[in-house]
Amino acid sequence: MSGKSYTITLIPGDGIGPEVASAAVRVLTATGLDLHFETENAGAGTMGKEGKALPLRVLESIRKNKVALKGPTATPIGTGHRSVNVELRKTLDLYANLRPVRTLPGVKSRYDGVDLIVVRENTESLYSGLEHVVVPGVVESLKIITEKASTRIARFAFEYAETNGRKRVSAIHKANIMKLSDGLFLDCCRNVAKGHPTIAYDEVIVDALCMQLVLDPTKFDVLLLENLYGDIVSDLCAGFIGGLGMAPGANIGEDSAVFEAVHGSAPDIAGKNLANPIALILSGAMMLEHLHELDAATRVRKAVLAVLAEGKKVSRDLGGTAGTTEIAEAIASRV
Ligand code: NAD
Repeated sequence: MSGKSYTITLIPGDGIGPEVASAAVRVLTATGLDLHFETENAGAGTMGKEGKALPLRVLESIRKNKVALKGPTATPIGTGHRSVNVELRKTLDLYANLRPVRTLPGVKSRYDGVDLIVVRENTESLYSGLEHVVVPGVVESLKIITEKASTRIARFAFEYAETNGRKRVSAIHKANIMKLSDGLFLDCCRNVAKGHPTIAYDEVIVDALCMQLVLDPTKFDVLLLENLYGDIVSDLCAGFIGGLGMAPGANIGEDSAVFEAVHGSAPDIAGKNLANPIALILSGAMMLEHLHELDAATRVRKAVLAVLAEGKKVSRDLGGTAGTTEIAEAIASRV
């Protein structure tokens, strides 16, 4: 162990958020690292209490600590406050959304041996939040693509591929229809690819990608996508490895990083001790790696694998009957 001390902003979030967040804290604390969690909540619950879904103190806490662990936050559909996630990612410029998708032992799935990485641009495209009514009955929603953000995310994907022993980056697009916006994205990807000759590069149209993924997800390596495509494809990919309860993620910027699962607040199972905490626990392992605590990260991962392989403490989404807290205890005791 490094002997260092870390203060981490903890955002429990909404729905199952507090349950999976406390499960993750339980497991991360079991590593023996000197971790201090500074709880600063955000989301629909905070909106109800404080009139703000993302209070300034949450942003200040993350800016100070540089690292956050976040549970899912709920966003009203079609109306109400802006998504805390979009706000957080844009305000802190967490431009890279990194989502590893790996088959884990003991988890039933139609697919074996899936090992792919989703790299999603996190700050622009159709998530610019620029929408307006042109005239009643006509709405315009602006898709913003810039050379700067596209080049930056492409660099992130290629550098990730190089440092993590990956072989190929596939840029995903719809430039046959959105010739200018997705065309610019592709130009940037091609330019960055030229500087990384050891990594193979190809381009796949997003609809064709979905079909090819469903036929055989093991054919892909690193997927490089704009914001909306990345959002949709991430959930599709979670389905290859046992569902949303298994898919971890990270939002990474130059100054700070927020670690959170792919899944949302799952209101259908909230407060029932039914949520699978593994996605957030694995996000926590990614956080430890980010902090260069590699041994602790490996111990967390191995503990998750051991509990899954044993198959006794498994949540309902994976066909088991164990509760969130029991799973957390089982993993923590192996850490
Ligand atoms: P969801 O991911 O919350 O749920 C989809 C399905 O997956 C549900 O059946 C749910 O029970 C199940 N599920 C999700 N996580 C699970 C887990 N850990 N264990 C077991 N089952 C799990 O998606 P949704 O229903 O579309 O969205 C609900 C809310 O979450 C919305 O308000 C949405 O805006 C928000 N959301 C937040 C984030 C985030 O904060 N990063 C991401 C996605 C959605």
